[in-house]
Amino acid sequence: RTVYLNGNYCPVEDATISPFDRGFLFAHAAYEVTSVYDGRFIDLEGHLSRLRRTLEGISIPNPYSDEKWAEIHSDLVDRNGMEEGTVYLEVTAGDYGLRDFAGPETFTPTVFVYADARPLIGDLARDGIRAITLGDTRWKRRDMKTVQLLSQALAYRAARQEGAETAFMIEDGLVTEAASANAWIVDADGKLITRELSHAILPGITRAGIVSLLKKEGLEVVERAFTPEEAVSAKEVFTTSSGAIVAPVVAIDGKPVGDGRPGQVTRRVQRLYYEAMGADVAA
Ligand code: PLP
Repeated sequence: RTVYLNGNYCPVEDATISPFDRGFLFAHAAYEVTSVYDGRFIDLEGHLSRLRRTLEGISIPNPYSDEKWAEIHSDLVDRNGMEEGTVYLEVTAGDYGLRDFAGPETFTPTVFVYADARPLIGDLARDGIRAITLGDTRWKRRDMKTVQLLSQALAYRAARQEGAETAFMIEDGLVTEAASANAWIVDADGKLITRELSHAILPGITRAGIVSLLKKEGLEVVERAFTPEEAVSAKEVFTTSSGAIVAPVVAIDGKPVGDGRPGQVTRRVQRLYYEAMGADVAA
């Protein structure tokens, strides 16, 4: 596998960074994960503008122009012969040879990018996933996509222990989002509900794409928070993310959602999004 590190393309075995990197010491780093389908990027501009906002929020200068970022992404897809999967990018605050909380006046970033070939539309999109619920223990600026992912890593471990694939995180009695995806429910009237944007959740690029596709279709989207109880008794539940696109949630805390199978509205959302991706998949 060929990866990109600080200006060079190299085999992953040769990509090394310092233990004094602030990404390693303080999780002082931003990241993005962009989907690639049929060799094309899905809303790379959206990811790069969110990256800009995250970097600004954590005081790291954006090392590249959008054109340069796009070039690195395309190069990695080409060099790795990837048709479908994701490209992961990480920008850390860099290495200063010492562990100093505040760090220098201006940071010189470390940049790492790699391509991960795998199906975006697989068995889980067809059959659905199971979720557990747990407290949201993340920091309060979840709108920034940083590598402080310990809460989510532990949430996934807890989910796996319960025989589930994801976790819905709860704060003040409301679902914030899934461990690495935005959460949606379909109410008894077939209305689609997803939490409104704020510091409490990540503004998902897939979420934004789906909101605009649904509006174009004349389907109502209500942006408000919902409780885990509402989710369990909803007609349908699904999550959206670049890595798994639209994943039907068929059970929450061991209780089936609806009849325990992906529902019609979820299938329609999948079809709309797949179509926009240029994917010819019978959902
Ligand atoms: N929410 C969280 C916490 C995430 O980590 C992610 C993606 O990794 C998402 C939502 C979905 O965002 P996107 O659609 O931009 O991938």
